[in-house]
Amino acid sequence: KPVIAIVGRPNVGKSTIFNRIVGERVSIVEDVPGVTRDRIYSSGEWLTYDFNIIDTGGIDIGDEPFLEQIRQQAEIAIDEADVIIFMVNGREGVTSADEEVAKILYKSKKPVVLAVNKIDNPEMREQIYDFYSLGFGEPFPISGSHGLGLGDLLDEVAKSFPKHEEQDYGEDVIKFSLIGRPNVGKSSLVNAILGEERVIVSDIEGTTRDAIDTPYTFNGKEYVIIDTAGMRKKGKVYESTEKYSVLRALRAIERSDVVLVVLNAEEGIREQDKKIAGYAHEAGRAVIIVVNKWDAIEKDEKTMKEFEENIRAHFLFLDYAPIVYVSAITKKRVHSMLPVIDRVSESHSLRVQTNVLNEVLMDAIAMNPTPTHNGQRLKVYYTTQVAVKPPTFVVFVNDPELLHFSYERFLENRLRDAFNFEGTPIKIFGRPRK
Ligand code: GDP
Repeated sequence: KPVIAIVGRPNVGKSTIFNRIVGERVSIVEDVPGVTRDRIYSSGEWLTYDFNIIDTGGIDIGDEPFLEQIRQQAEIAIDEADVIIFMVNGREGVTSADEEVAKILYKSKKPVVLAVNKIDNPEMREQIYDFYSLGFGEPFPISGSHGLGLGDLLDEVAKSFPKHEEQDYGEDVIKFSLIGRPNVGKSSLVNAILGEERVIVSDIEGTTRDAIDTPYTFNGKEYVIIDTAGMRKKGKVYESTEKYSVLRALRAIERSDVVLVVLNAEEGIREQDKKIAGYAHEAGRAVIIVVNKWDAIEKDEKTMKEFEENIRAHFLFLDYAPIVYVSAITKKRVHSMLPVIDRVSESHSLRVQTNVLNEVLMDAIAMNPTPTHNGQRLKVYYTTQVAVKPPTFVVFVNDPELLHFSYERFLENRLRDAFNFEGTPIKIFGRPRK
């Protein structure tokens, strides 16, 4: 999906426009306890276009001086977006902060559409002409509070969406990414994986976009590590900000089949780790928990077990995810990640034969009678797998209301036992039989 970023100095109305464009979507609380969508990144639609949109104003850059914050937000937009909406305030005219943003945007090769906000009625349209001086061509008048002008603005933005689709790697290629807080060792791990014996990194010369993916082969199998540019070309100040790391994670998750959630053994589990992991689960990706910097802590024979218990207690929703303990520095067990990636990827795309599936579930139901509610008992007629990545099942029943979460959970566990769905979420939906 193309990515749009909104930039501009504070108080020009970026968040209002962001919320207008994404509609209600951002306020949706997902079914993972404790995980609410960040209000800086969301998907949106306009006519036939599907896109993602970032409100860079929501990325808090810490204590930097005002102009420096604006500059960094603009740079994030340049790094992350295909098209930039540069927003100014039509009631205040061109300010020096607007000119600063403009200067940074000139230097990028990304298309920029200039939006003049707070033009709440047609009489105010005259005020947009001043903004030609910013040098981005025709300014588009909009009104966040009245919801005016957004259609024309998005039409213009859509003209600059990249023409060619994203690189398509084919069904058999395993796409994975490493996500986690800053400094947990993601880039070190990528380098350690690619430095493994028998890992053959493909020649990525000649790719037009800056190479953010690294394709490689190992034991004759093809893999792509997603979104490494951000990890490898380091040194930008904003990379250490929390919201930016979430943004990076979301973008990587979106393009991956398998997500490695990297934790830092030295620091233990933080709230931010759970949030990032929650996104991977919610997106239906296969998940592996990687505990890095295992070399850096004092250990005895109980340490690993204690770590595992702690992880399981904090990541209840990831009870299916395997845990690996590694060190990017000493390379210990780095090689063991690759077979785990293979395994979870296999479960993630596993398709179960309908007759076998129904046999297993009918046996399960015979062992553990279905629940009743108000004198009515849940009846399960049959089940069918409707999708992979993640495996998704539709259970045809007399009344979906009777298929309680706990019974669903029981069926899920039976499926896990029977088919070894290691590392992948499973989705189960109840439908009334027609
Ligand atoms: P990223 O921000 O998650 O990509 O983290 P980096 O890969 O840049 O690593 C952050 C810091 O942790 C660097 O100073 C690394 O040298 C260090 N580091 C990474 N992996 C390990 C590890 O396995 N053990 C130890 N002791 N340090 C590590």
